[in-house]
Amino acid sequence: MKQYPKPLAKLIGELSKLPGIGYKSAQRLAFHILDYDERQAQALADAIICAKREMTHCSICGNLTDRDPCAICADDSRRRDVICVVESPRDVAAMERIREFDGTYHVLGGVISPMEGVGPEDLNLKSLIHRLQNEDVKELIIATNPNIEGEATAMYIARLIKPSGIKVTRIAHGLPVGGDLEYADEVTLLKAIEGRREL
Ligand SMILES: [Zn+2]
Repeated sequence: MKQYPKPLAKLIGELSKLPGIGYKSAQRLAFHILDYDERQAQALADAIICAKREMTHCSICGNLTDRDPCAICADDSRRRDVICVVESPRDVAAMERIREFDGTYHVLGGVISPMEGVGPEDLNLKSLIHRLQNEDVKELIIATNPNIEGEATAMYIARLIKPSGIKVTRIAHGLPVGGDLEYADEVTLLKAIEGRREL
């Protein structure tokens, strides 16, 4: 294959490092960017640098924010006695979209994964313990993902917190809305049965 000139090859190379962007998509994006005038290209570059420079982690909950504490922690209308524990800032955004939860969050910044060499000490847990000791928290909702790492992390946190007497709950999971019992895998079905509720 004919090599691209160096500046273009470099742009394609950087773009293809992004998640979900294969070489072909990176090529397409690079050619698109090359069609930009100087001002548009500068705006894109500035947005990247600015976001990187100005976004930080909330010192209370660990969420991504441009001010500390973050807008959710600083919001007086949010309940302080319920904390929803999630893996990443993306999960906070997902929860906020349903507009149902009015408590605060705690972002772990990952999950326990021996395979990837991630242990409890690598997660944002110290500040969670600090919050539980200093705020009047009544319930901790663990909303890590329903996979092996997410479950292991939920169990770890539950064991860690339970002696304090704070109620620890786990989000229900099971069949997706619109799903079909017949086609559900066994683990999903088991979780659905475990998470049943009275009607
Ligand atoms: Zn916060």
